[in-house]
Amino acid sequence: MTSSSTDTPAPVLVLVPGAAGAPTDGGDLFVLADPDAPQLSVTDLVATRGDGVFETIGVFDGKAVNVGPHLERLARSASLAELPEPDQQTIAQAIDAAIAEHPAVPELTVRVMLTRGIEGTGTPTCWIHARVSDDWTPYRAGIRVAVLDRGLSTTVTETSPWLLPGVKTLSYAVNMAATREARRRGADDVLFVSTDGYVLEGPTSTLLVRHGDTYSTTPVSAGVLPGTSVTSLFDVLQREGTQTREQLMVPADVTSADGVWLLSSTRLAAPISHLDDQQLPVDLELTARFEQVLKGQA
Ligand code: PLP
Repeated sequence: MTSSSTDTPAPVLVLVPGAAGAPTDGGDLFVLADPDAPQLSVTDLVATRGDGVFETIGVFDGKAVNVGPHLERLARSASLAELPEPDQQTIAQAIDAAIAEHPAVPELTVRVMLTRGIEGTGTPTCWIHARVSDDWTPYRAGIRVAVLDRGLSTTVTETSPWLLPGVKTLSYAVNMAATREARRRGADDVLFVSTDGYVLEGPTSTLLVRHGDTYSTTPVSAGVLPGTSVTSLFDVLQREGTQTREQLMVPADVTSADGVWLLSSTRLAAPISHLDDQQLPVDLELTARFEQVLKGQA
């Protein structure tokens, strides 16, 4: 099926009633569904409270990258949000089914959504949605980034865990509002800073900073999401003997760097060309190499 206005293939939807164990009515663990038909109850707690967790997985030339780490992170988010434990094997099979059903495209974005479910049932709602990725080519060539205050300290995980720092919750309205503020400032994306003055992450990405042969990212203990992309990249860099570290950094550490990127599973490695008004060096050759690693093709 193709949409009428363009040649872009239609998205694929897989509902996963077995996401937290076999359904009590003995029905299927997962089932293909019509992505254009209404599927979500108005009393699902994700609709009424934004209560749920999710993952976004990149699929490049038909190969899904880091499915295991994404599903482990989904389980971590579910645990921290006190949601039922997701059945990673069932969800992995449902992801495979969604990818197999979608026509072959170079870049596919697969979302795994797990909500607290319909009020009063205690059963999570889960679905997989696969669609052609947005065109991130301009983003991968260099982005302007605005520094914005996140309003939280790097001690938030200890002082206020109920704010769910580092949890990929479905309450991303604040992250999207920050991105709109960046646009108002003439930037493409955001780098959050903590109230105690440290750089954190983007609203949907992890910070990577290069000083010479040393690569640094923000420690997860500072309240950022544990990124799957930065982990993949660090694994490759470490195998080459390059030094990688989790390190609290201030904005001056970023503006003095030899290269800075925002990393994520679908946009891959976006080099920061400007942090507010300060120009930063961009290395497109290194960026292209990171892109291959993050596509699972290195
Ligand atoms: N930080 C936040 C807040 C995110 O939402 C994301 C991804 O969406 C990331 C970091 C990057 O994570 P990953 O590399 O696993 O895509």
